[in-house]
Amino acid sequence: MRRPTRFRNAAVPAAAALVALLLGACSGAASTAAPAGPGQVDDSRLRLVTTYSIVYDLVRQVAGDRAVVTSLVPVGQDPHTYEPKPGDLQAVAEADAVFYHGLNLELWFDRFIQNAGGRRPVYVVTEGIEPLRVEAGAYRGLPDPHAWMDPRLVTRYVENIRDALSELDPGGAETYRANAAAYVEELEELDAWIRDQVERIPPQHRKLVTSENAFRYFARAYGFEILGFIYNLAPEDEPSARHISELIDAIREADLPAVFVETTLDPRILQRIADETGAAIGGAVYVDSLGPEGSEADTYIKMMRANVTRFVEGLGG
Ligand SMILES: [Zn+2]
Repeated sequence: MRRPTRFRNAAVPAAAALVALLLGACSGAASTAAPAGPGQVDDSRLRLVTTYSIVYDLVRQVAGDRAVVTSLVPVGQDPHTYEPKPGDLQAVAEADAVFYHGLNLELWFDRFIQNAGGRRPVYVVTEGIEPLRVEAGAYRGLPDPHAWMDPRLVTRYVENIRDALSELDPGGAETYRANAAAYVEELEELDAWIRDQVERIPPQHRKLVTSENAFRYFARAYGFEILGFIYNLAPEDEPSARHISELIDAIREADLPAVFVETTLDPRILQRIADETGAAIGGAVYVDSLGPEGSEADTYIKMMRANVTRFVEGLGG
């Protein structure tokens, strides 16, 4: 897929100049900046840019108050097909490091980070995770990025983030170690809680229908079957009439009480399918984005709890 060149042509010279200007100022900011006086902003904190809200939350959990963390993709938007804004280049130019998900999630990232230029460290948080592969469609054979839907795999993300932060800011290594260890305990509690909740769903209804095929890691971890979906990865081409009618048959045959829409995707096709089958829309679930600040799903752990609660309610638990 070609992207418009307007963005690159317009933004790069300015960004490159900015990077050149800021490179000296940025390096080692965490260790060399003077301590802030009363009433001043503490500028000794690391400035970390993340690509989307899940990585944003995990980096924030491990970094604690030693970093200012921002996310490029706004909450509620699709991180697969995001189109970077010129302001994103500036955010990267001013950052001490960039954290991205990888495993084929941010389809726009390689080009974006090349355009950003500069020499700041770029960390991939999924290093070492063995991915499932997309089974069909335009991205067939590539990694299925949605590994965070299994909290046990997120432990690896957290360890990678801990190691990256300790490398960037060795003086904070002990803090990062403690924060990561505490968070891994929360992940273990989450995993146990999910297992308990899933017990409340009759085994014949542990089946998921969503817009995107984004629950394979979740299904593998907690004994669900993926009954069907509209898109393999990200909104691809319009689904064929045959695909839709097979999905309708599968929902009817399973007598599935509910299907689920994702907060980042257009719910209309799935709504039509639900109407056709008599299944309910069991509410919106969070996959590719947290919920807004202050909502039921403004952290990764809260998002997973909200999803599982919806599954238990919708599937007859
Ligand atoms: Zn997705």
